[in-house]
Amino acid sequence: MLRISRIGRMRIELHRQIRGTVKTLTIKKEANQYYAIFTTVQESEIPKVENTKPVGIDVGLTTFAAFSDGTSIKKPKFARKNEKKLHRWERIKARRQKGSRNREKAKLKVQEIWRNTTNQNKDFIEKETAKLVNSGYTSFVMEDLEIRNMVKNRKYARSIQEATWGMFRQILSCKAESAGMKVIPVPYQYTTQACSRCDNIRKGDDKLTPKDRIYNCNVCGLVMDRDENASINILNRATAGHAGSNASGDATSTIQQVSQVVSLKQEHTLLNAGEAHTL
Ligand SMILES: [Zn+2]
Repeated sequence: MLRISRIGRMRIELHRQIRGTVKTLTIKKEANQYYAIFTTVQESEIPKVENTKPVGIDVGLTTFAAFSDGTSIKKPKFARKNEKKLHRWERIKARRQKGSRNREKAKLKVQEIWRNTTNQNKDFIEKETAKLVNSGYTSFVMEDLEIRNMVKNRKYARSIQEATWGMFRQILSCKAESAGMKVIPVPYQYTTQACSRCDNIRKGDDKLTPKDRIYNCNVCGLVMDRDENASINILNRATAGHAGSNASGDATSTIQQVSQVVSLKQEHTLLNAGEAHTL
């Protein structure tokens, strides 16, 4: 039972034990269901972690995430299914006449799929990030994806993908922080086209297309999975003294500047993605 002063008592389903001191309570209505959200304050000690084992993460369209140590997280099966479904209903909605009841129905369907997708993605990400912070890494290096979003035109499936990447980084940052670790954003330029061994950048006709799954370097002869190559580039950008990161001083200041812009932008992108499909 939940008792709220001046409102009364109501039966609730407690999803997990409340820990700490309750500070605020928010009642939220979503798809005809009411939720009580408690914000609590809890003293916790953040451990001191020495950054001895940073890892580079490349998030992608085919593999969910590739790591600089050669491991990866596969894209979950439900993701592609949901993308297809959403795409289908978006088209149905577009075909139906504006203001008609049928269009209204399609709109609700799109919202429902979007909501289910978000929930499934969140569950998946919660599990994967929990594993990540417990796997011996001491920090996580990722690209500034939000900046890339601003310059690229996107399709519908891509917008889900981008919301998912944003969620991944947000949840990972949160979990990492309470475990005494950091998520470090780095500039995204050429992470795919650069060779992680000799720093040569593929340009023009020589550029890797989205279909090329292997990175072949015609300068040093490196042959590697494209996502793994990218994740090593990402890691190298956060590691001072690497040959390719042109003078450590300059590189660090650029990284910090960019990271501030990104944290603001990320919030904005997430809000937009949610709003666009609930309005
Ligand atoms: Zn090379």
